[in-house]
Amino acid sequence: MTVSDRIKLGVSSCLLGDKVRYDGKHKYFAGLYQGLSDEFVFQGFCPEVAVGMGVPRPPIQLVQCQQGIEACDVVDSNIMWTQQLTDYAQQEAATHIAKLSGFIFKKNSPSCAPGALKIFDTRGRILHQNGVGIFANVIQQQFPQLPVIDETGFANAIQRDRFVQDVRVYYKKSLM
Ligand code: SF4
Repeated sequence: MTVSDRIKLGVSSCLLGDKVRYDGKHKYFAGLYQGLSDEFVFQGFCPEVAVGMGVPRPPIQLVQCQQGIEACDVVDSNIMWTQQLTDYAQQEAATHIAKLSGFIFKKNSPSCAPGALKIFDTRGRILHQNGVGIFANVIQQQFPQLPVIDETGFANAIQRDRFVQDVRVYYKKSLM
């Protein structure tokens, strides 16, 4: 099987071992390679690096403001990255994401988490934990059928098998 024949999956780059996190580290997830055969190929995305936030960088968090949810610098909440992250996600949605058959996102990330993310109020208190990262949110809105999972779900054999099955079905439909 050549690389171009393989089913393409998007992955948050830090899970692939890229040192792109705010602290200059990665979050390599060996389970990706144990769980998937060479039927698949990964394409990494790091929205925060892509929009020029740099490595290392101050961390951000999602804050419920009057105008909606904003991706704010944790130290200086006047610095916001919401628009840049949204623009980047829309740009990727129009290009690379359409070629994917699934996405493995990094949990707990204000950019990448596909769900269960902490949302803060303007005083830094947790409002709820049902948020979605800015990048993941745009991708899921534009591709509501795209199978998505985070690394914790992927580490669970039942959830992983279901995800892989959904990916294969999505891929087959994309060929029709
Ligand atoms: S979670 Fe997403 S934005 Fe954060 S370092 Fe990983 S790939 Fe980049």
